[in-house]
Amino acid sequence: MKRDLICTICPLGCKVMATYAHKKATAICGNRCPKGEAYALSEIRNPRRILTTTIKVEGGIFPLVSVRTNRPISRDSMRRVVKNLHNTFVKAPIEIGDRLAHGVSGSGSDIVATRSIPKKKAKP
Ligand code: SF4
Repeated sequence: MKRDLICTICPLGCKVMATYAHKKATAICGNRCPKGEAYALSEIRNPRRILTTTIKVEGGIFPLVSVRTNRPISRDSMRRVVKNLHNTFVKAPIEIGDRLAHGVSGSGSDIVATRSIPKKKAKP
């Protein structure tokens, strides 16, 4: 099988062509540096992505906080991770960069807040 990829490691965006069988690369060309080969191998064997989503907030000025994984996780595990996070609540206040969940997807990735959510003020 053949697969055309755009390497996303740096802004040059090399067009990398990978020939493979049973998730094993037999030829990789078009990359200008070794990182492109590593990228193509990862895409063939186990593509990984940074997951971005939202988590419900209790007691905050907004009902949701935007989050992302602190490292790429397997694309195959994304649906399961999002499903688990759907039932997760965190309490305000939340600061940008707070780690809100640990070890998601079994890969040691954490869920990190990408914005701050102050606590809702009580009505007088
Ligand atoms: S192959 Fe190397 S030079 Fe080309 S986009 Fe990837 S990292 Fe950049």
